[in-house]
Amino acid sequence: MDNETFIKNAALEVGFDACGIAATDFLPKDAAYLQQWLADGCHGEMHYMANHFGKRTDPRLLVENAKSIVVVLMNYFPQCLQPSGAPLVAKYAYGADYHFVVKNKLNELLVQIQQRIPCEGIAFCDSAPILERCWAQRAGLGWIGKSNLFIHPTLGSYCFIGELLLDIALKPDEPMAERCGQCRKCLDACPTNALSHPYRLDARRCISYLTIEYRGKLEDIYNEMLENHLFGCDVCLDACPWNAKAKANFHAELQPQEAFFQLDWSRFTRGQFNNLFKNSPLRRAGYRKLKDRLNAIYGTSTITQ
Ligand code: SF4
Ligand code: SF4
Repeated sequence: MDNETFIKNAALEVGFDACGIAATDFLPKDAAYLQQWLADGCHGEMHYMANHFGKRTDPRLLVENAKSIVVVLMNYFPQCLQPSGAPLVAKYAYGADYHFVVKNKLNELLVQIQQRIPCEGIAFCDSAPILERCWAQRAGLGWIGKSNLFIHPTLGSYCFIGELLLDIALKPDEPMAERCGQCRKCLDACPTNALSHPYRLDARRCISYLTIEYRGKLEDIYNEMLENHLFGCDVCLDACPWNAKAKANFHAELQPQEAFFQLDWSRFTRGQFNNLFKNSPLRRAGYRKLKDRLNAIYGTSTITQ
């Protein structure tokens, strides 16, 4: 068995759903895209997106001697959805914080690789300036759709992306061509026109950004626009035909607590936030931001401590 096949098999054994390999390189097309996106201010207040431009577009500047990128995907499509009418939480945030889950598995994978191939490596999952979707495409796992989301032909977009940067040369996979065709369902479905053009997300209008990253006070006009969205947004993912056949994940680490589905959000307290969302992506928004959104959703202004 060659090293590439060994690595891909080991990735599945540690619990990932797909694995591909790319050779480290400068990404000229993606660098030009990023430069224009930043120049247009589409990143809003995510100023960190403008930092480390060189490293972001060339992983060899991020990790010295990095020659290969092993890219893994982990399905997070949930086994059951929130009850109808509940303030909406993006599906990726139902369970534990994926940063730790994916990184732990990547480190397990690295140990397995090192038992066979002498090498050094570093694991990343949304934790460093790396254009993860671009590398997933380069590694032959799927493509970046008009929604700006990564799409795997069978897992769809409901998957976390992680990477191992290795200091060994491996045979790269062939990048996958884009398969959106004439479709524009994601653009038509976006409630805030954040996808006014194919492949171009204006974060300043995106519900995910506004409910998670944005630190200012949301004006009434935005609160109206956000409707029932509490944390993140899955509208463009749900609209995509490639996600219609998404299958539920059975990763033990990603399963939400039963209490998540039973929450009475209208009486959400700081105690519940601290207990139920101790290791959750919802911590990124913080209690006060969630509570402000809940007050807007329920038309109340009482902060329950
Ligand atoms: S996440 Fe929601 S608001 Fe953002 S682009 Fe997709 S549909 Fe539009
Ligand atoms: S909804 Fe259509 S256009 Fe948008 S990402 Fe999916 S396939 Fe591509």
